Amino acid sequence: MHHATFVSVRVPERGFFVTPHLDPMGKLSKEKRDVYYRKAKEEGWRARSAFKLLQINEQFDIFSSVTKVVDLCAAPGSWSQVLSRSLPHDSAQIVAVDLQPMAPLDGVIQIQGDITKSSTVTEILGHFGGVKADLVVSDGAPDVTGMHDLDEYVQHQLIVAALNITTLLIKEGGTFVAKIFRGRDAALMIAQLRIFFEDVVIAKPRSSRNSSLEGFVVCRGYRSPPDFTPSLDNVFEVMQYSSEELLAGANRELVPFVLCGDLSGFDADMGYDLAADAHVQAPTAPPTDPPYKFAKKLQETQALGRPEGMSGSKE
Ligand code: SAM
Repeated sequence: MHHATFVSVRVPERGFFVTPHLDPMGKLSKEKRDVYYRKAKEEGWRARSAFKLLQINEQFDIFSSVTKVVDLCAAPGSWSQVLSRSLPHDSAQIVAVDLQPMAPLDGVIQIQGDITKSSTVTEILGHFGGVKADLVVSDGAPDVTGMHDLDEYVQHQLIVAALNITTLLIKEGGTFVAKIFRGRDAALMIAQLRIFFEDVVIAKPRSSRNSSLEGFVVCRGYRSPPDFTPSLDNVFEVMQYSSEELLAGANRELVPFVLCGDLSGFDADMGYDLAADAHVQAPTAPPTDPPYKFAKKLQETQALGRPEGMSGSKE
């Protein structure tokens, strides 16, 4: 039985009480109040995210017997630090990948690359001498726009990319940990991940803010589905959703996504120039008695928004 949340960082008595710090605008800075932010600085972690991986490991013991591990989307490197401090340097190999450059870290091989590129796969496996990884972790995050649907979609694409590359890097029985947004589509994604892993859990480390939809999928027991050929194509699209064999129980709830219509025809998201002889046409079916007409009438008598019975004229 897994617990959704867990405590691991011991906050000293009243340690969460901090004297408020004000920024130049006179506002309280959130980071200054955050215990994990301060603890990360105290303990020399490059980012407060280090505690998330530490707490995930505390709960799920994902580092045991690991000799080859890949840290996808690793910069600035706090997860790589956790791996480097937790695994024995003489026997474990850690490869970290990110689009961004990262300051060197003891015991960590670094690749500046894109997780969606096959050259990155070749480079990682080259460092492992062709042997597959026991553990792949991914804390990938796109730049957040604040538009939840878009952010969730882009994050989902990054997980798909992380899973794609993982299918090329991980050994049978291996573990995959990845950041997700616990949004509307999380249940579908979990069902899809279950096709590849025996056990899939969403973890919410204590150090991950409650106000954030962030969660981490902890996927254990990688099992390449029969006839599945790992590739950097979208695994969720490649999968044979109609296969009875792969889709037992909840997985059968998956609904195939089918594109309809002439794909070389008009694109609904594009703008097209009007023909030279185009003219404005009246609506095919004008609105009959829309509510705005009544609201407009009320507005004219200044009665809009006033309690019933109250005069519309100014006092
Ligand atoms: N786990 C890191 C740590 O503890 O320091 C923090 C990772 S940060 C939240 C997310 C990272 O994802 C960024 O550094 C970004 O460059 C990386 N990223 C996003 N898309 C990527 C891609 N396609 N390939 C490689 N890295 C990517």
